[in-house]
Amino acid sequence: MNGTTRSSYADTSAIVLGASMSGLLAARALSDHCRHVTIVERDLLTDHTEPRKGVPQSARAHGLLASGYRVMDRYFPGLMEELRHRGAPVGDVVGDFLWFQYGHWKLRHESGVLGITVSRPCLEAAIRRRVRRLPNITILEGVSGVRPIFDTQTGRVTGLVVRRSPRHEQEFLAADLVVDAAGRGSHSPQWLEEWGFGKPEVVTVTVNVGYATRVFERRPGDLFDSNGAIVSGVPNSTRYGAVLAAEGNRWVITLVGTVGDYPPGDETGWLQFSASLPVPVVHELASRARPLTDIVSYRFPANQRRLYEHMNRFPDGYLVVSDALCSFNPVYGQGMSVVALEAEALDEELSAGMHGIAVRFYRRARKIIDIAWEIATGEDLRIPQVQGSRPIGFNTISRYLERVHTVAAYDRLVCRKFMDVLNLLASPTSLMSPRVAWRVFSPRGKSRNISSPLRSERHPR
Ligand SMILES: Cc1cc2nc3c(=O)[nH]c(=O)nc-3n(C[C@H](O)[C@H](O)[C@H](O)COP(=O)(O)OP(=O)(O)OC[C@H]3O[C@@H](n4cnc5c(N)ncnc54)[C@H](O)[C@@H]3O)c2cc1C
Repeated sequence: MNGTTRSSYADTSAIVLGASMSGLLAARALSDHCRHVTIVERDLLTDHTEPRKGVPQSARAHGLLASGYRVMDRYFPGLMEELRHRGAPVGDVVGDFLWFQYGHWKLRHESGVLGITVSRPCLEAAIRRRVRRLPNITILEGVSGVRPIFDTQTGRVTGLVVRRSPRHEQEFLAADLVVDAAGRGSHSPQWLEEWGFGKPEVVTVTVNVGYATRVFERRPGDLFDSNGAIVSGVPNSTRYGAVLAAEGNRWVITLVGTVGDYPPGDETGWLQFSASLPVPVVHELASRARPLTDIVSYRFPANQRRLYEHMNRFPDGYLVVSDALCSFNPVYGQGMSVVALEAEALDEELSAGMHGIAVRFYRRARKIIDIAWEIATGEDLRIPQVQGSRPIGFNTISRYLERVHTVAAYDRLVCRKFMDVLNLLASPTSLMSPRVAWRVFSPRGKSRNISSPLRSERHPR
């Protein structure tokens, strides 16, 4: 980071496989500690803000949680200001949004926690431009990583074999550290097995989520002058709707159905699905606003976590990060923020030296992932059709959380604490603190009429 002393091993060179959000952020973290960082990306990267082949999910609404916003803002001073100039609204994650969860509107108030709504391609392109400007980072685009090379003599990874196209010869790039940021489709488990380390244990929670997204024109006064709305169902419901403002006066509206309850890809079916959400804000907007694109669908099978931290041995000079480590049900909008928090943890661990970096990084990453995993799978497992082991006390915790949602409709502190957890700014256990629990169980609240959205301070007027 700016102002951080360069590490004593600044002669180190690193290669990052993949130039998506995690590759860019990992490279940014490494650039303060390494002489040179090379990012290898198989897509050709333009400055355009169109979705690209290697990141097919980027056409879907991508919410950035406040934790991710904080890290990106710190790593790239001026980034959020630039995005704002490009038309992406910056606002309060509670006061400038409409949140409908578990049958209640969250209290719409100024929480002081900032976030931005911007399309995923625009955010990624802006970060990429800033990474390109760093003097010790090179992005090799249109180049595929074929496989890292493991030296059995030294027990370490020594670099990466790459190829520009099937017509080109393979080339070897030497490095002291190779970081796999190739996403969920990462080949690290197979490579590690070939090198004699075995495969990491994998934990999955199958959700079979379907996305159907359409972009609309955004006009003044839409959606109660907010920057977006999140509508999730009543308990056990399989349907969600997300409306997020994006640069260029656009709304990105994504309908989501879990456990195979996929939103249709045709206009009539899509609108009917939006009408089935428990409150009409998404449907009303989608029926009235001018569509700018067709409906695009996407399927996501399962939360998937690879437990590298449980492996007995791991090669020196190698690291796996981000979606290649863990990918979450996208409904909770955690991916990019977890990636950012991991980059920050990598940065801090690199400050303590390269020795044992994998063990130290996985220990830190595990804590970050544990929290996001608990939130995502905890919600998913409430749907009876979702397979997976429910921990002891699961039903009690679920009932408590339902009560938190109810109270967060009128209690500022409970609402703020819940939003901190949702934004990965606080651990879920913070919702159990005596201060919060007292308010959650307060009989005073039980008698309140909390079903009307008009109760919220600013929403809907
Ligand atoms: C439908 C959907 C919706 C989502 N919504 C949200 C959201 O609202 N908020 C949020 O924070 N997150 C969201 N996510 C998650 C988010 O997209 C990811 O967490 C984020 O992109 C970080 O992933 P990554 O960089 O690890 O991998 P990816 O984004 O998958 O990128 C991998 C990169 O590696 C490159 N690559 C792969 N193999 C090679 C190779 N052999 N050689 C060279 N390059 C290679 C690819 O081209 C690509 O650029 C969503 C995900 C999905 C699927």
